[in-house]
Amino acid sequence: MNIENLPLSTFEYKGLTIEGYSRAAVQSYWRIPELKLGFDLGGSPWSFMGTQTFFITHAHLDHMAALPVYVARRRMMKMDPPTIYVPEATRDNVERMLRSWQNLDRGRMMCDLIGVKPGDEITLSREHVVTVFETKHTVPSVGYVVWDCRKKLKPELEGLSQDEIRDRRMGGEEVTQEIRVPIVCYTGDTAPAGLDGYPAVYESRILITEMTFFRPEHRKDKIHKFGHTHLDDIIERADRFQNELIILGHFSTRYHERQVENAVSRRLPARLKERVKLWL
Ligand SMILES: [Zn+2]
Ligand SMILES: [Zn+2]
Repeated sequence: MNIENLPLSTFEYKGLTIEGYSRAAVQSYWRIPELKLGFDLGGSPWSFMGTQTFFITHAHLDHMAALPVYVARRRMMKMDPPTIYVPEATRDNVERMLRSWQNLDRGRMMCDLIGVKPGDEITLSREHVVTVFETKHTVPSVGYVVWDCRKKLKPELEGLSQDEIRDRRMGGEEVTQEIRVPIVCYTGDTAPAGLDGYPAVYESRILITEMTFFRPEHRKDKIHKFGHTHLDDIIERADRFQNELIILGHFSTRYHERQVENAVSRRLPARLKERVKLWL
């Protein structure tokens, strides 16, 4: 069944489909079906129900209000209980919130609710691991990086023949090592300190982050204090972004889409602009 209950944009890059919507104070929700995961649930498009794992960055309503809807829908459709990751400091309150909804709605809220903190590592599958990093916002918040994990022959064994390698492996020697490549980073809402504190943010193949404000007259210190990022912050860091694709979203509702596009096309250096996609 295809029910279109919420706006959703889609973009494909190197085998990954990024689906989502993000406007400040309205709602943010993202999903990457191929990775079987999503980020934030400010809204819950009907199709998101089919994804079992969500990573929530913080408990602002525009990032989490639809969590009970999503959990209840999965149960209603007889799907397995989902796994929800939330900042550790919010976990117990989120559980109480779900319990309240359970009492109000008289439907059981079944999910695995897991609190996470910076430095945590979550194994999704043999190929994918998620790490948690610190972001800077006005409430407890974290960002997430999805890593591709591959086994690769140890470099010191590269000159050896297949037979030799097999013999060593049979002899109990570890002949491979794990290579990790950051493929998707999602920061949620953050002041630029959240970008700067974790190298994988700049190294991840795809970076999904926020640029809530862009007007030159906006005071940067105030924006940072409220845990957000400005176009000037992105420009200041132009040389640090090694990402192949940078998705900027979470624009303030004060702006028209055209204004954001104009400012970015006028001010962003070309080498960055060609990799930036505005999520409008
Ligand atoms: Zn937000
Ligand atoms: Zn927020």
